[in-house]
Amino acid sequence: MLVDTPSPSMTAQETALFFDTASKYTYETYTKKAIGYITEFLNTEKFYSGVLPESLRSKVSLLQANPSQQLSIDETLEEIQELYLEHTIAFHHPTYVAHLNCPVLIPAIVGDLIASSVNTAVETWDQSTSATLIEQEMIRWTCEQMGLPATADGVFTSGGTQSNFMALLLARDHYAYVHYGLNLKEHGWSDEVSKFRFFCSEKAHFSIKKNAALLGMGYDAVIPVATDHQMKMKPDALVQAIEKEKQAGMIPIAIIGTAGTTDFGSFDPLDTIATIAKEYKIWFHVDGAYGGGYILTDTHQEQLQGIEKADSVTIDFHKTMFQPVCSSAFLVRDTANFKYVSHYADYLNPLEHRDEECPNLIEKSIQTTRRFDALKLWFTLKMVGAKTIGSFLEKVHYLAVELYHSMKDDPCFEVIHQPELSTLVFRYIASGITHDPILDTINLHIKNTLFKTGQASIACTKVDQKLYLKFTLLNPKSTLTDLRAIVQMIKNTGKNYKTSN
Ligand SMILES: *Cc1c(COP(=O)(O)O)cnc(C)c1O
Repeated sequence: MLVDTPSPSMTAQETALFFDTASKYTYETYTKKAIGYITEFLNTEKFYSGVLPESLRSKVSLLQANPSQQLSIDETLEEIQELYLEHTIAFHHPTYVAHLNCPVLIPAIVGDLIASSVNTAVETWDQSTSATLIEQEMIRWTCEQMGLPATADGVFTSGGTQSNFMALLLARDHYAYVHYGLNLKEHGWSDEVSKFRFFCSEKAHFSIKKNAALLGMGYDAVIPVATDHQMKMKPDALVQAIEKEKQAGMIPIAIIGTAGTTDFGSFDPLDTIATIAKEYKIWFHVDGAYGGGYILTDTHQEQLQGIEKADSVTIDFHKTMFQPVCSSAFLVRDTANFKYVSHYADYLNPLEHRDEECPNLIEKSIQTTRRFDALKLWFTLKMVGAKTIGSFLEKVHYLAVELYHSMKDDPCFEVIHQPELSTLVFRYIASGITHDPILDTINLHIKNTLFKTGQASIACTKVDQKLYLKFTLLNPKSTLTDLRAIVQMIKNTGKNYKTSN
């Protein structure tokens, strides 16, 4: 018989496990109450309360739990509201324009809730069944959007950093295997590998260098290639860099083109780079963590031309498909190349029991236990649709373009690029001041003041050693009026700094 309410003799702790119908009541009560607090977070007036770090640190009784503590759901939600919901950063707020964090789609949240509650782990068929098929379908769909061939495949990852790690690893091990007959997976390091070189633009994401270091190859294995005034990799500089390394006895093994650099949203000339990679017979990876999602737009098809020729692709759904963190994928042109990461464990996926009908996704991943992150995307595509996502992305791109036009002739600003995606990099120019270190100080002051007072969150970055401010726009509900208000805050803060110093 089904019981809807726990028997009065049961304590809250006894029904705390997602276990039987007695826990159903607890589940519903807790989630309903939590939803009340979460939706209150939507009313937040500012993107951030402006609370001081020491004030958060001093909330010791809220931070810590003692071993015998058993708070009620109401008490706990009150605590987390005071500790976190009232002070955390609201990415959905129109004054949050700092990093690549998007507001999330509610259907995706529902997918995430289901995935977390059922707690599927997708590494083997016997832990996941149809969840494996859903992940594979989301990967197939993504490969199809990118125009990759039928041999293509992929896997969900924790983010662009992990996807880029897999790209470098596969490119390296593939080159070592094909050209030197080396099996790095089994036998480890070989001297030739010290000479392997990756090429990417000087504006590429730092995870390329970091991953080369994690792979034991060091930052030196990554050769930065010069960019033009639009922050795009220069093809002639790429060829020169490859030739120079070859002359020095080094071995070029891969080119990484960026589809949407983190700071400028610039697209490297992917099609031209694909041709160069083909000429040198080396791996072509596209880091589309930021710009990859723009494959769903009508506006960016041209910039993404050539991605269909890539040997591998990184795409972050948690940046440009409005998914909760984490949701990201690594795609590879030829599924056979996953052999460089696959391992057969007796207890999990023994080779002798390999069965095409019941695939084990662990054979493609560097993780073992892995969340069912594909479900969020499935809910999104079913309920919101790829067209709407594409229109959201076009909207934030147009916002960046309009903002650019409204700022480029303003003497208070130096805007250093025309936005290709949805970022805008600029700095405040105080009248009469030309000395860069002073401008750096003023711009940093602006960024910090707006953050601390909860007025707006903007990012900063460096270009030619100089400090610039950055808008990253990922909120399709944001308006030009919202953004102009932030621009006005920047001007006011800049002016006040000058008069008070
Ligand atoms: C954000 C970003 C990454 C890293 O992705 P994570 O999901 O944060 O790990 C890699 N490359 C580019 C171009 C990015 O913008």
